[in-house]
Amino acid sequence: MAAHQDSLAADMLEWQRHAACRGLEAEIFYPTEDDETAFEAKAVCAACAVSGDCLEYAIAVREKEGVWGGQTAAERVRIIRRRRRAAARARNAQAAAASN
Ligand code: SF4
Repeated sequence: MAAHQDSLAADMLEWQRHAACRGLEAEIFYPTEDDETAFEAKAVCAACAVSGDCLEYAIAVREKEGVWGGQTAAERVRIIRRRRRAAARARNAQAAAASN
């Protein structure tokens, strides 16, 4: 049992060691209904020192469920779309500047 826990600890991302959700019921972070039921998880995340790392991780791995970094799955999709649109605008602006 201890070895198993050690290997879990070794695999853990460094920021997760500082997560405010450690030891809490996982169900809190996987609300079953809509985003309106995520308030409890969001309250925990709001006080978490690593919420930025958590959110970026969830976005990077395209985590499809749960509240990460204080954002629901639907909210993360909106963040990804906003970032894609901003990147496209930046590319278009660069292309326009280069053609002038
Ligand atoms: S931001 Fe929320 S889900 Fe992420 S580590 Fe902190 S408490 Fe856990």
